[in-house]
Amino acid sequence: MGLGLGPQIDAMLAGFLGLLIGSFLNVVVYRLPKMMERQWAEECAEMMGKSVDSAEAFNLVVPRSRCSNCGYLIPWYENIPIVSYLFLRGKCSACGTRYGLRYPVVEATVGALFYFCVWRWSWSPTALAWCGFSAALLVLALIDWDTTLLPDDITLPLLWAGLMTAALGWNPAVNLPTALWGAVVGYLSLWAVYWAFKLVTGKEGMGYGDFKLFAALGAWFGWPALVPIILMASVIGAATGIAMKFSSGLREGGYVPFGPFLAGAGFAALFFGPQAILRFVGL
Ligand SMILES: [Zn+2]
Repeated sequence: MGLGLGPQIDAMLAGFLGLLIGSFLNVVVYRLPKMMERQWAEECAEMMGKSVDSAEAFNLVVPRSRCSNCGYLIPWYENIPIVSYLFLRGKCSACGTRYGLRYPVVEATVGALFYFCVWRWSWSPTALAWCGFSAALLVLALIDWDTTLLPDDITLPLLWAGLMTAALGWNPAVNLPTALWGAVVGYLSLWAVYWAFKLVTGKEGMGYGDFKLFAALGAWFGWPALVPIILMASVIGAATGIAMKFSSGLREGGYVPFGPFLAGAGFAALFFGPQAILRFVGL
């Protein structure tokens, strides 16, 4: 299936679409944790029997993007992925505050991921499924890195989508039983490690979000991919933790979230196939 324009043009169109989606994902990464915090605060207030005066609307659509420094309402023509960043040299046009390089990097990354999926599978349900997978995985990695949270609002749909994609036959790598057992074993294995670690050391080594993310990866790649993925995530995670310790970049409490490394291993499985990871880590 294609638009008849040739595979390269199809992939480039997907890449442009990815830039736009990437721009929206920047908003999700920034706002979703704040929306969760607001909801928790409201629930706590309700339990304490306090009246909740709901503040102005705050969701993924409302309010429109503003400069976090001066409150300048960013017009659409200054919100064009990559282009606006380059044109404004990464600064607010009203007050000159620098915006982080992360915004255009995320946009470009999503563009590259969508390009890859459509280049590999052309316009097909398979390509669209993996585009959605990539977008969700990137958002989870960034939110976990920023806040050490993996929102259920993303991990659980990602898990269901993996099972549905397998059931519909859109994922050539797995059939439904392989995907289902990937999800079950993925969740239970980290759950078991969590409790073993907690009983031995009294500490919590990861969060329930990690189990759900690993279950989702199991649903997308099938149970045989679980060992390669967890090996790669652990190797890179440990290396990063040690590097951060030596560069004294370790944050308060010394906690490095595991989700970004699970996500990184998920991307490696997408690009190279789960079994290639085993060769990469030397097995
Ligand atoms: Zn400003």
